[in-house]
Amino acid sequence: MSTFDVIIVGGGPAGASSARILANSGLDVLLLEKANEYRYKPCAGGLSVKVLPYLPDGYGSVVERRLNRIVVHFDGRSIEFTYDKPVVYTVSRQTFDQFLRDKAQENGVNVHYNEMFLDAVMGDDIIEVVTNKSRYIGRYLVGADGYPSMVGNIVGIGSGYKSKVVALECEVPPIGKWMDAIHLFLFDGILGYGWIFPKKDTMAVGVGATVSSSRRELHQYLLRLFSAAGIGYVKPHGYVYPVGPNYRSRISRGGVILVGDAAGIADPFSGEGIYYALKSAQIVSSYIMSPFGSVESRFKKEIFNKQKRGKVLSFVFYKFFRYVFNQPMFEERGKNALRRFLEDGDFYYSVHFPWSRVLSAFLKGMNK
Ligand SMILES: Cc1cc2nc3c(=O)[nH]c(=O)nc-3n(C[C@H](O)[C@H](O)[C@H](O)COP(=O)(O)OP(=O)(O)OC[C@H]3O[C@@H](n4cnc5c(N)ncnc54)[C@H](O)[C@@H]3O)c2cc1C
Repeated sequence: MSTFDVIIVGGGPAGASSARILANSGLDVLLLEKANEYRYKPCAGGLSVKVLPYLPDGYGSVVERRLNRIVVHFDGRSIEFTYDKPVVYTVSRQTFDQFLRDKAQENGVNVHYNEMFLDAVMGDDIIEVVTNKSRYIGRYLVGADGYPSMVGNIVGIGSGYKSKVVALECEVPPIGKWMDAIHLFLFDGILGYGWIFPKKDTMAVGVGATVSSSRRELHQYLLRLFSAAGIGYVKPHGYVYPVGPNYRSRISRGGVILVGDAAGIADPFSGEGIYYALKSAQIVSSYIMSPFGSVESRFKKEIFNKQKRGKVLSFVFYKFFRYVFNQPMFEERGKNALRRFLEDGDFYYSVHFPWSRVLSAFLKGMNK
């Protein structure tokens, strides 16, 4: 049976990046991906610029658009934020993820496509991994298999996510006036938003919100977005995935550790998951290379504590934005806050709510 230092299940951003970093540090790494090369992944493909430092050299070749304009729409009105440099890049997940897997391979990772993880048997210091093709031994097993995680289910970790997002999304042909900005659509009644993200020659269009909204309800909001944007009906696909912080259950047991969506750590405010997939890949890799303390506490310090604040922001923002949308405060502060959110992974630590102004705007709105 072949033996590896680390066996990674799942070749999305979390798995491919963990694999690359670990192999680069001299470890023997096996990456198992159940699909083939260039597999399709439903995703709007938006990368906030805080992702860029986590990407390997050469990522520019898979970027489809670099956008410095964000337009926020609500109730027939739009507010435009223009920045002096790009704040969001868009990619197609097929080529982006393939680029990350190819970089892992270039760095010495054994990448096996069309090989599906089926089971894991934990020994004292080793883990036996069973796939549809073979059996392997590893010192560590990293579950980067997205949501729901089979690795997590088998080992009994990572379940019980408290918050989930439900999303409806489709790709549509380009329409000129939507192609040079990120468009966000706010709606009364859901804790979430709609989007149009322009790619090279398509547009990702969707709506996502916390699971308190049903798919049927979200579908109505998507129809409103289609109508506002002049997009003909396209049947969307529906998805559910967890957002952090995931305090409810462990994300590791023995030598098994979950990362990315498998660990349930997408952003609670935006639903952005690629940043945290890459961030968790970095945390898990540095833990495996120097396994002092607990990996749980590293996740808590570097991800969960921030996301706890993000969750509060998310609730307050989506509940109350309608009372401040028309205030100059939203235009002034919104532009800067959004830039900081997109640029800075520690953004949530800098959020201090102007509670008195929010309250006064709220009361003004109520009195109208
Ligand atoms: C509609 C929608 C829009 C989104 N838009 C954005 C966005 O614009 N920006 C953003 O940052 N995030 C976005 N996200 C979230 C983002 O897509 C995820 O957070 C991100 O893909 C997580 O990466 P990952 O590597 O953890 O998992 P994944 O990308 O899901 O990768 C998991 C991999 O594991 C493989 N796998 C699964 N099971 C097995 C198995 N048993 N054996 C072997 N391989 C296996 C899968 O084939 C897959 O390749 C969006 C999500 C949705 C649903």
